[in-house]
Parts: sequence; C-alpha cells; structure tokens
Amino acid sequence: MNFSSQEFKQQFPLFSQAENRELVYLDNAATTQKPACVIDAIRDFYLHSNANTHRSSHRLARRATEMVERVRAASARFLGAESPREIIFTRGATEGLNLLANSLCRGLVAGDEIILSTAEHHANLVPWQMLAAQYGLVLRFVPDANGVPQIDRIAEVLSPRTRVVSITGGSNALGFRTDLAALRATLAAKSSAATSSGAVSSQGDLRWIVDGSQLVAHDVVDVAAIGCDFFVCSAHKFYGPTGLGLVYGREALLRELPPWQGGGEMITSVDLLASDYADLPHRFEAGTSSLAAIAGLGACLEFLGKQDRLAMAQYEQSLLAYLHDRLSQIPELELLSDARNNLGIASFVHARCAAIDIAQWLDGRDIAVRVGHHCAQPLLHAAGHTATVRASLVAYNSKEDIDRLIAGVEELLRQLD
Ligand code: PLP
Repeated sequence: MNFSSQEFKQQFPLFSQAENRELVYLDNAATTQKPACVIDAIRDFYLHSNANTHRSSHRLARRATEMVERVRAASARFLGAESPREIIFTRGATEGLNLLANSLCRGLVAGDEIILSTAEHHANLVPWQMLAAQYGLVLRFVPDANGVPQIDRIAEVLSPRTRVVSITGGSNALGFRTDLAALRATLAAKSSAATSSGAVSSQGDLRWIVDGSQLVAHDVVDVAAIGCDFFVCSAHKFYGPTGLGLVYGREALLRELPPWQGGGEMITSVDLLASDYADLPHRFEAGTSSLAAIAGLGACLEFLGKQDRLAMAQYEQSLLAYLHDRLSQIPELELLSDARNNLGIASFVHARCAAIDIAQWLDGRDIAVRVGHHCAQPLLHAAGHTATVRASLVAYNSKEDIDRLIAGVEELLRQLD
C-alpha cells in the first residue's frame, strides 16, 4: 500500500500548532482540515493576483480570470466531466442544490413529482419543500427501512409524473453509500419504458441529481461512470476551502435550464426591462465568485492528484473497521452505522449517557466529534433517535486517534458505574 497517513498528516499545518498537538479531529464529515498548499494558494492570490475577474482588461484581472478558468478545467477533469462548461462554481453544496431546485422546478407544473430519500441532508430537502409549495409539486420518498433508503425499491415511487430524482451519494449521518449503479439501472429502465421525445438526459425527461458532498473526500468520482445528470459537492469537505461548491451538469441539460440568480457576470447585455444571459457556465454564476477559494481549490486538486487515492481509501476502510470493532465492544453502546460500504462515519448512542454529554466529555479531552441530528432529522427520527455522536474519519486520522476516542468514552462510562 503506497500511502503513509503520518506523512499525509504532516501536510496539514493546523495539527502542528502548539494548541492542537493533542487534538484528535474526528469531525471530518462536517469539514476537513486544509493542507498547507491550499492555505498558501489563498494567501498567494491575495498577495499577488487579487482582482475581480472578467470585468476588466488590466493585468491582474486577466490573471485572476485565467486562474478561475484553469481551476474550472481542472475541476472538470477531477469529476470526469466532458467540458469545463459543465462546471459551475457556487458558494457550497447547499447553494448548488438550491440552484438546481430553483432552475429545474421553474419548468415543472402542478402535480409533477420529485423523488428524494429519508437520508437527505436538509440541504437536499428544504429547497425542494420550498419549491414544491410554490409550484404545487409532489414530494415522494424512496421506501426505507429504519430511515435507510431501499434503493432497489425506488420503482415503487417512480411514476409518469416523476421529473426529478435527487438523492445523496452517501449519508452524512450514518455513513452508508447509496448504490448509484443500481439507481442508474432502475432510472434507465424507466426511461426506456416511457416514450419521451427530444430528451437529452440518459434518463429521458427525468433529471437525476447526486448530492456527492460526502463522496469526494473518499472516492475518485467520475460523473460519466455514475451516469447522473447533475452532481453537487462542497470543496471544504475534501481538503479544499470553505465558501466554494461545484455543480456538474450535462451541457445539453444546463443549456435548457433558466438561470436562477440574476446580477453581474451572468449577462451579455441588459436593458431596463430585459436582459440577455451569458453562455455556459457563467449564466449560473451571478456576482463575484469566491475567487481566493477557487485558487485554493486549484491547489487542492493538484494535492489530491498526487495521492494514491486507492491506497488512501483502503487505509480509511481499515481504520473504519477498527473504529466499529472497538465501539461494538462497549457495553450498552448502540452503533447505528455499519463499517461496510461506509464513507468513514461511525454514529452511536449509549443507553445511559446522552449523546451531548459524551461529546462534551470528549471535547474536554481534546477529541472533536459531532453531536446532534447532523442536519438529517428525518433519518435520525426514522432510526428512533434525536441525536447521535458521530466520529468521522479521513486519511490523516490514525489508530491512535481511535484509541484515544475509545479510552475517552470508556473513562466517561466508568464514572457512571
Ligand atoms: N449534503 C450533504 C450530504 C452534506 O453532508 C452537507 C454538509 O454536511 C451538505 C449537503 C451541505 O454542504 P455545505 O454546508 O457545504 O453547503
């Protein structure tokens, strides 16, 4: 295996700051730490290249514009898109999902149906609720077992009125991956059964969105292999900067969509009563983008490109198995997650100790975990809980981190006896 977690961790300066030397950081599903190259790129942008893009003819503006378009092209390669025109920069996955919901729903009529799942992050639920109320759309949900979507049963909720399927690639609360290959096969079968004319999607007149927010840190993503129409993620969840998300969309589909936010950058000409919109992808990027963050993303993609991603994933998987194994040996602790086919997440509760008390106790020992509903309230409710403790791993975590976590939990539980 060509991966050293120790060497990898050394590239993250937060861990070598005096106040963080003892830190065990297990809140990576919320946000990952940043390697030095990302921090340097953001600083370098402000030091050497700061200017607004596209609007000006001077040297710095040209340089900033070139940088943004270079990172867009790198992002397209990173996600397996066919062209940089298929990549839209947003402020995060949340804004990306709002963009898609707003633009797609404008073309729908009352009674059209959107399929979601119980496992969605609120960012892939609330925007659809808002638009369903506005346009009279119907929200339907993949059948689930204790909240876990049964993707092989999605056909039960597909109908001739289904227009959008928007499902997470993996749960941020419990870690399970969605079987995207099975989903693709079912959607493709549905579209070949339906007779639709002029469709540009591989799913006929149905649009398929994957919320990939939790996938990218762990898996090499290839949107062409997945076969989805749209894919959404946030840079800060895969070692990149905050304030920046990516939306991938098939070019032909993006061309059909109306822009959702208006303003500068997204137009070619403006009259008092009407405007002409810019070409792809800029028509979906109203206003000034997070330019320094885009510079940081460029460095992040180079950084990831130098890693052996397969070896990284194998390492994370062995760590996750160890974490689940250790947690499962603690009496009265209920593990809601399963180490198999999991994106680095262990989620648990204890019969005699509230999740919040466990998290606060661990914080007192400089062990950072997350507690609460993880912005996935419907899933937690269906699983019979209001809050869990979530420990989420990436490749800079180690067996020692897990040993510290387990020792911390056991120490707390001894106090209860
Ligand atoms: N979707 C999933 C599955 C997530 O885990 C998150 C964040 O936790 C989001 C969407 C929203 O991401 P952001 O807050 O970066 O917009």
